[in-house]
Amino acid sequence: MKPILYGKQEINSEDIASVVEVLRSDFLTQGPKIAEFEEKFAQYVGAKYAVAVANGTAALHLSALALGVNEKSNVIASPLTFVASANCIRYCGGNIFFADIDENTFTIDLKKVEELILSKPDDFFQGIIPIDFAGYPVNLEQVKKLAEKYNLWILEDSCHAPGGYFVDSKGQKQACGNGNFADAAIFSFHPVKHIACGEGGMITTNRKDIYEKLLLLRTHGITKNPELLQENHGGWYYEMQTLGYNYRLTDFQAALGISQLQRANENLQKRKQIAQRYDEAFAHHAFVQKAPFHEGNAYHLYVIQTEKRKELYDYLKTQNIFCQVHYIPVHWQPYYRDLGWKKGDLPEVEKYYEKCLSLPIYPTLTQSEQEYVIEKILDFFDGKV
Ligand SMILES: *Cc1c(COP(=O)(O)O)cnc(C)c1O
Repeated sequence: MKPILYGKQEINSEDIASVVEVLRSDFLTQGPKIAEFEEKFAQYVGAKYAVAVANGTAALHLSALALGVNEKSNVIASPLTFVASANCIRYCGGNIFFADIDENTFTIDLKKVEELILSKPDDFFQGIIPIDFAGYPVNLEQVKKLAEKYNLWILEDSCHAPGGYFVDSKGQKQACGNGNFADAAIFSFHPVKHIACGEGGMITTNRKDIYEKLLLLRTHGITKNPELLQENHGGWYYEMQTLGYNYRLTDFQAALGISQLQRANENLQKRKQIAQRYDEAFAHHAFVQKAPFHEGNAYHLYVIQTEKRKELYDYLKTQNIFCQVHYIPVHWQPYYRDLGWKKGDLPEVEKYYEKCLSLPIYPTLTQSEQEYVIEKILDFFDGKV
């Protein structure tokens, strides 16, 4: 049996052909594939605008800048995420405050968020970064209510949830990243995510002002748009109007993204099927706590919880099954501890971290591979090893 990883990309011959086509064309970067990818991705999640960037972290950084984060900003985030979701605020000099997770959904607990807000002076916080953790969609309608009450912007980290959705109070499906509630949402196209570009990221928004800022920030703050120029010396003329970055995606990466996007729904169904098989396999075994169910879960990860996490992880490794832990609480990282955070600050996420294990889930995981994984897990708990 070849090694089984917790996640991996799926590249087919059409993907390869679409990349090769760009390599043979006139544009490796800043060509037509970027706009096409943006348009198709915006359509996929149901947002008005999309801006493609170099990676998910760049998407977070530019969103934070476009939302006006600076040295005076105080922003709330979940401690159960990849470090980049918090780091983006630090890049802009702002302060991050973690609010603990809900023990059932593993997403940020809005009661804890409100407690945190009320523990500070009025207007202390400017924004909140909810994460659709493992693919479980945050109910952004509820976040928006809180955000309106306290005048916060919302930056949704949807890296785990392209294709995910929640159902709002009117019974409407609201796709993750559709911009109906959040000011901006971000996605990553790292190979372990749903859509792979090698490296890549996307920001979606329904706000034109944010969209225009993002376009400027993505390319050094430079514009050639005649309507925006302060002067105009001729065809060569451009202006750098703000301090931006080179956070562009290349055209061959965009071509790969476009090709992958065509199979996004199909692959999402495969993830759901795998999750359902795990659900069924563990239904009658109290020693494993299953991943939380939600009909709109995009199942980037399938996380179980067990008291014997380390032993199970080590055992599965001897069986060629390579699970992963998502995540070490961000506030436990030495960098954040240096900023004053410590163990014990956020009991729910800390309790979760001691028990969580991400099982293999990706579109090309075969049924027999999954059955092998399940068998090894049950053997472990039935004392057969
Ligand atoms: C992957 C990921 C990121 C960062 O994306 P990169 O493309 O690797 O920079 C940010 N947040 C979450 C939740 C992620 O899973």
